[in-house]
Amino acid sequence: MMAARVSTGLRGELRCNVPLKGLNSWRVGGPAERLYRPADADDLALFLCTLSAGEPLTWLGLGTNLLVRDGGIRGTVIALHTALDGITRIDTHRVRAEAGVPCAKLARYCARRGLAGAEFMVGIPGTVGGALAMNAGAFGGQTWDVVVAVETIDRGGRIHRSQPGDFTIAYRDVSLPGELWFVAAEFAFKPGDTAASLDQVRALLARRQASQPLGIASCGSVFRNPPGDYAARLIEAAGLKGHQIGGACVSEKHANFIINTGTASAAHIEALMEFVQAQVKRRHGVHLVPEVCIVGEAR
Ligand SMILES: Cc1cc2nc3c(=O)[nH]c(=O)nc-3n(C[C@H](O)[C@H](O)[C@H](O)COP(=O)(O)OP(=O)(O)OC[C@H]3O[C@@H](n4cnc5c(N)ncnc54)[C@H](O)[C@@H]3O)c2cc1C
Repeated sequence: MMAARVSTGLRGELRCNVPLKGLNSWRVGGPAERLYRPADADDLALFLCTLSAGEPLTWLGLGTNLLVRDGGIRGTVIALHTALDGITRIDTHRVRAEAGVPCAKLARYCARRGLAGAEFMVGIPGTVGGALAMNAGAFGGQTWDVVVAVETIDRGGRIHRSQPGDFTIAYRDVSLPGELWFVAAEFAFKPGDTAASLDQVRALLARRQASQPLGIASCGSVFRNPPGDYAARLIEAAGLKGHQIGGACVSEKHANFIINTGTASAAHIEALMEFVQAQVKRRHGVHLVPEVCIVGEAR
């Protein structure tokens, strides 16, 4: 369906009935009723002021941890990738990155400047905003371990500066006090060595390539690891590798990945998630909690 442009006085882009399949890594889901891509943080603040108090808002980074249902998303989707994309070095060890910056770009930015500690972000295919919302992590590192401050925005377009202690931060989970969304973060890294950091970046990417079905539509790990165990181990031990519903399939390479073989709908993926949960519960007595965020309406 064609996206209709709506003329506004704002500098960003507001479109209606926007297909979201191309804006998430599972390549499924229905359209957004409206989608706004701001020009910058000031423009985002102005845009938020134009909305009614009850307008449903969904925030979108690179859509690498989102299952958008087939009926699409009501209200307004705010898309920050390519919009809030500034990175600044504040001093010897601190870097400020806006929420739309891809994590891999931040990892390489730091490695090239001899800052150590951001390498783990290279394989996280989302944005800084998504990584803050999910406390994304890999290979022993997690986002909030290196955050010293964040800037958030509220519905009224006001920017707030907060410290990690103002949030409840857990494994792949962050609770924000009230309706706030991330617009930027300040990170602290250690003095490092560019060659060593770039070597580590290459090594981490090679480890991912060897263990994950990269290049195929997926959302990474679908379920959180339960305490003391791995979701992938439990799913594999339940004999579910290769199990398929419609076009959705449990990856043969990594059992905690569900891949879109090309014909999956969001409903296929959600049905497969529920099937995996039920089988793992039956076989191991463990309830797997989804890591992916499910948004939108069923068709
Ligand atoms: C191949 C593959 C490998 C992956 N590997 C990893 C991994 O190793 N470790 C890991 O942790 N994750 C991994 N992921 C999952 C995903 O990349 C991360 O969760 C990532 O942080 C999501 O960022 P995003 O920009 O894509 O967020 P989105 O998917 O767009 O959004 C995710 C959630 O964050 C919210 N959100 C987005 N931006 C903001 C904002 N500015 N303010 C407030 N909320 C916001 C959204 O509303 C949604 O609830 C992987 C995914 C894929 C496809």
